[in-house]
Amino acid sequence: MSETTLTTIPEGTPHTASTYQAKAYAAPGATSPLAPATILRREPGPRDVQIEVLYCGVCHSDLHQARNEWQSAMPTVYPCVPGHEVIGRVTKAGSAVRKFKEGDLAGVGCMVASCGVCPACRDGQEQFCVAPATFTYNSPDAHLGGVTYGGYSDSIVVDEAFALRIPKSLDPAGAAPLLCAGITTYSPLKRWNVGKGQKVGVVGLGGLGHMGVKLANALGARVVVFTTSPGKTQDAVRLGAHEVVVSKDEAEMQKHLGSFDFILDTVSAPHDVNAYIQLLKTDATMTLVGAPDAPMAVSVFGLLFGRRRLAGSIIGGIAETQEMLDFCAEHSIRADVEVIPVQRINEAYERLMKSDVKYRFVIDMASMK
Ligand code: NAP
Ligand code: ZN
Repeated sequence: MSETTLTTIPEGTPHTASTYQAKAYAAPGATSPLAPATILRREPGPRDVQIEVLYCGVCHSDLHQARNEWQSAMPTVYPCVPGHEVIGRVTKAGSAVRKFKEGDLAGVGCMVASCGVCPACRDGQEQFCVAPATFTYNSPDAHLGGVTYGGYSDSIVVDEAFALRIPKSLDPAGAAPLLCAGITTYSPLKRWNVGKGQKVGVVGLGGLGHMGVKLANALGARVVVFTTSPGKTQDAVRLGAHEVVVSKDEAEMQKHLGSFDFILDTVSAPHDVNAYIQLLKTDATMTLVGAPDAPMAVSVFGLLFGRRRLAGSIIGGIAETQEMLDFCAEHSIRADVEVIPVQRINEAYERLMKSDVKYRFVIDMASMK
């Protein structure tokens, strides 16, 4: 596979930091496979940690972004280095860093900066920063110009405020997906007070879905998985589901009408949300975390009858991400992962497209060397 050209600071862009070269895997364009690349990282400043990346999870968002599937909402700037489920070892800590020292494990999720002063940031909900938040990849890079580059790389540099402590009991590969799939499912489950005595649906058993099942189970809910893949039934039960419904089975779906306290929809492609809205109780909520690339039709009557709510949610704040990591350590929760060398990333994307993932690909970054 040919190496993409060295990524340099775009001409004319002011930059304040000195730089070093890092190895990465990048998408050169929407229709080209990911390939080896050399990128520039900033030398760590006083508040930064430099992290040697050990593992990086493969989120379906990486695929959406690499292939420019969200072009109307978040157009992709190429080359694009995806990856926002990063676990690594701190190799340098700036002079003002307090949370980490060299040799510590650290995590980086979907954000690397935010304004810090808007109401959302002050409230610890940096994901809703009005500035907006700087995402780990494909966001304007305030230090170097161009866009940020993600975790499909041997090294990353972030402000310590956006780095997470990884509890010792979590193994690094199984913990990496918690940085996106974990917090994206934990945050809405907490927001909508999921707990004991409640019936909770999880739609789609992929990376997010399987974390949603584990977390909802640990919070004490009765968990029902909706899947299009009958072959995942046994796994769903092993992961913590109390019941599994193959969503193509109309009669099985009908049995659950009006019975759910909460439904979490993690599906990555356009699908019929109305089939799930009608399964909610009066005043109950269905939250979409999946991010299909096309609009989906909502039958208003499904919401009117039952005063039901359709909501959305995106990742979670830094403090809540740390809370989720600590919750996972306490409950021995980690992702079920298939560890791959970075050279197999394009094959992993093809398998994600076929819902063939059990249940998160994680890149072993030692393969980058
Ligand atoms: P994933 O591992 O590929 O899982 C998606 C699952 O959805 C599949 O395994 C499949 O489950 C189901 N599915 C796929 N295509 C379907 C279709 N056409 N109809 C019905 N079900 C289908 O993806 P992921 O990494 O969990 O991400 C899921 C979505 O969440 C993506 O769109 C991603 O961009 C988004 N996301 C959002 C946030 C956020 O903050 N809101 C964060 C991360 C990711 P079954 O085989 O069980 O049917
Ligand atoms: Zn993600």
